[in-house]
Amino acid sequence: MRRKLLNLTAAVSLMLCVTVCLLWPLSHLVRDELFWGNLKSSDPQVGYRSLLLSSNCGRLMLYEQAGGSRSDGFFWDRYAPNPNRSLAGWTSFVPGIWISDPDALPGPSSRAVLVSFWFPVAFFAFAPAWWTVATIRRRRRKRGLCTCCGYDLRATPDRCPECGTVAEAQPATGA
Ligand SMILES: [Zn+2]
Repeated sequence: MRRKLLNLTAAVSLMLCVTVCLLWPLSHLVRDELFWGNLKSSDPQVGYRSLLLSSNCGRLMLYEQAGGSRSDGFFWDRYAPNPNRSLAGWTSFVPGIWISDPDALPGPSSRAVLVSFWFPVAFFAFAPAWWTVATIRRRRRKRGLCTCCGYDLRATPDRCPECGTVAEAQPATGA
């Protein structure tokens, strides 16, 4: 069950990683914008809010604006890329991520975050990379090979004579 869940996580992460890898170069050719207008806000003072997800020149922006918008519902628009978008009014706390200063946005309760494309690529690559290493190690262990270098350990099951790796303790079930 646990392994199935890990396999699924790795597969979904890999698909998302590939998708982001394809969108990254595309963001330099076109600026795609997904827009959800007039979503009901949980804050009664705000009433409505809208969400904008924009892909522009190597960066993704998520922008939540408080208040009603001109258009209802969901839209996807494609524009020319804007390579000169300034980072003035944005603060970076983590490499590749910027948060907009609230004063730089129109209206109270609005917020925005900017993320470099490499950040989701690295994030979604982690699970498939971990899965690959874990699978190689598991297959080597099953075949009686060193999990580190793949050397045949049938003659020396406790310690690898090639790289010095001490064999991991086998589970009590002996599987
Ligand atoms: Zn070894």
